[in-house]
Amino acid sequence: MTARVLVVDDVPANARLLEARLAAEYYQVASAETGQAALKLARELRPDIILLDVMMPGMDGFEVCRQLKADPVLGHIPVVMVTALGEPAEKVRGLEAGADDFLSKPIEFDTLLARVRGLVRLKRLLDEWRARGETARVLGLAGGFADAPSIAGARVLIVDDWDFEARFLKDCLEREGLRASAARGEEEMLAATKAESFDLIVISLSLVSFDALALASRLRASERTQDVPLLLVAEPEDRERIVRGFDLGANDWLLRPVDENELRARARNQIRRKLYQQRLRATLDQALALALSDPLTGLYNQRYVMHHLRNLLGVAPGHSLAVLMIDVDHFKRINDSYGHPMGDEALKAVAETLRANLRAFDTLARYGGEEFVVVMPGATLSEATGAAERLRDAVAQMQFQPDGRGLPHRLTVSVGVAASTGSDATPEALLQVADRALYCAKRDGRNRVEMARSE
Ligand code: GH3
Ligand code: MG
Ligand code: MG
Repeated sequence: MTARVLVVDDVPANARLLEARLAAEYYQVASAETGQAALKLARELRPDIILLDVMMPGMDGFEVCRQLKADPVLGHIPVVMVTALGEPAEKVRGLEAGADDFLSKPIEFDTLLARVRGLVRLKRLLDEWRARGETARVLGLAGGFADAPSIAGARVLIVDDWDFEARFLKDCLEREGLRASAARGEEEMLAATKAESFDLIVISLSLVSFDALALASRLRASERTQDVPLLLVAEPEDRERIVRGFDLGANDWLLRPVDENELRARARNQIRRKLYQQRLRATLDQALALALSDPLTGLYNQRYVMHHLRNLLGVAPGHSLAVLMIDVDHFKRINDSYGHPMGDEALKAVAETLRANLRAFDTLARYGGEEFVVVMPGATLSEATGAAERLRDAVAQMQFQPDGRGLPHRLTVSVGVAASTGSDATPEALLQVADRALYCAKRDGRNRVEMARSE
């Protein structure tokens, strides 16, 4: 995975060293020697990650980080602070400024690469969500979010069999307003993640009876926990396993002795990021659902079915594909006799019956008013006609009772069937052929299925 990296360091030799090593791993690298230049370059290049020296004359790294993180266009770019100071207080200052990670000088290159890979992976994911969210927003389907998500009450699971440490971690996290619980090993961890969903999982790399890395990879493999951030707690000499942990998908780590402020700041950052991602996803799901479905029946709408047909025809030109155009017979009479709301109920009932009688890979959409379309990939004209006959019969058998007095109203549908023959078929042309067949079914008495005649 290649990525654009911006290296910021006031000592040109340091920047060049990093540049050379990253370039050897096929990263595209640019560098800046001052905070001002870094902000300008970041705006121009939109890097995937920024490695930022803390100590620089003029604007220092903390200030650069604060400005990056406050910028709506640049705020999501991961920032790794590179510091000569091993002081926990300095780390906490960096985390407060919004830094995503830290490396201390002299830089261990394996560690650096592991962090870059992990952060770039995460950024790619967020970029994707942001882009889709932005599209939804531009289309007027979802509002943006003004406020940062609150982490109060977020759930944290601590996996640690050293009771003293587990207790300490729990107390720190609770002072941060988080709700923490602890598991001593694999069974307890699995039971906990099954019982509730967590916003962060902290795993000790020093578990005595379990392989912590195996647990981390189990969490990543399971659908319930694959998006939950993982924070490793490790001994300073555990470097190699930390790097392995990162490659397995861990998001961050802490070294012992654990500093309370650092733990709280890292937990906060990870949870915020998860909540942000979750919110993007929820907005997007909602926007997509609104854009592509029909609110009355919950079926796909015309917009969706046209896209879907175009995709199918494009992906497998010349493969058989059939469409059904279904129209409710004398539907106007239901509205006229029982009122429009009862007409709506009738449409829902028809939609449900159609849905219940289709194969899983057929697509049913409400095309408009009292018209439905079914797309049947792989079906020939005669197979589709058989299916249409089944649907017609199912609707005719329905017991729809509009007046509640036990008098069923007989609902029927007419169906036009068309199949794609040539590779030049367009969705519009195919539906037009089905529509002509539907017209014949209506003309010949309704409650009928009619195949498109080949020209
Ligand atoms: P035909 O057998 O020829 O199809 O007769 P029809 O009465 O079904 O066809 P027509 O096109 O004349 O009338 C369709 C009616 O469907 C008219 C319209 O008011 C009604 N309709 C369209 N959409 C809705 C809806 O969402 N809810 C309700 N209740 N009625 C709808
Ligand atoms: Mg009709
Ligand atoms: Mg109609």
